[in-house]
Amino acid sequence: MGKVIAIANQKGGVGKTTTAMNLAASLAVLEYKTLVIDADPQANTTSGLGQDPKEVDTSIYECMVDGIDIETIIHKTDMEYLDLVPSHIDLVGAEVEMINLDNREEKMKSVISVVKEKYDFIIIDCSPSLGLITINALTAANSIIIPVQCEYFALEGLGKLLNTIKIIQTRLNPDLEIEGILLTMYDVRLRLSNQVVDEVRMHFKDLVFKTIIPRNVRLSESPSFGLPVIAFDADGKGAVAYLNLAHEIAAKNGMEKVN
Ligand code: ADP
Ligand code: MG
Repeated sequence: MGKVIAIANQKGGVGKTTTAMNLAASLAVLEYKTLVIDADPQANTTSGLGQDPKEVDTSIYECMVDGIDIETIIHKTDMEYLDLVPSHIDLVGAEVEMINLDNREEKMKSVISVVKEKYDFIIIDCSPSLGLITINALTAANSIIIPVQCEYFALEGLGKLLNTIKIIQTRLNPDLEIEGILLTMYDVRLRLSNQVVDEVRMHFKDLVFKTIIPRNVRLSESPSFGLPVIAFDADGKGAVAYLNLAHEIAAKNGMEKVN
């Protein structure tokens, strides 16, 4: 049974998409069958993995609203173990159209349920909002990864997110766990970066992943090649960090492979 992990934080620019595509690619390199679902109308994960969002006419949104089978819209990527459910701009309208549906928070969960058996991991990239699609992702997920940027106001909005998680645990998904808080864009030379690491670790202790994602220019360049960083700078700091994260998550879930 595949583990469903949502990457969420309503704050924009914290590294959700970078994490979704590169964690998924790293899991795939380790030969875990992995599906990334792009649940953000900005479709950055879609283009980052080499799929032109303009050519996408069916996304997770049509599956949720029109009952289309997710299996018919899964795209293969260049990586053997990595598949993608792309997004496109119309996902913006989904929240409005879903308002009157029964069980509107549970649509994504039932859409995903038919492919859960086929994957080891299903990674959902969320948009920077706590709207209905993100609520759907958190209701469908077994756990959430919360990227936190090592920058000013790192903890801003985190209280609201944790509160939303509690509400979802109470009303919609009692089994939702926090997989971990992921520190991103860490710059070893900056005192501020180190202060944020200390502060987040002090507050959240074991909830914080041991792996820290460094600021790394290759990570910001890779989407323009339509590739995860591991596909063109495999030995670089960014690729190594996301590979470490994949190992950490596999180990945490008792899925580490012995070579
Ligand atoms: P979000 O999905 O949370 O909005 P993104 O993953 O799109 O955030 O990241 C925001 C911007 O920061 C993007 O331009 C991305 O390329 C860049 N970025 C993200 N993580 C890193 C990193 N570790 N090092 C350098 N740039 C990064
Ligand atoms: Mg994003």
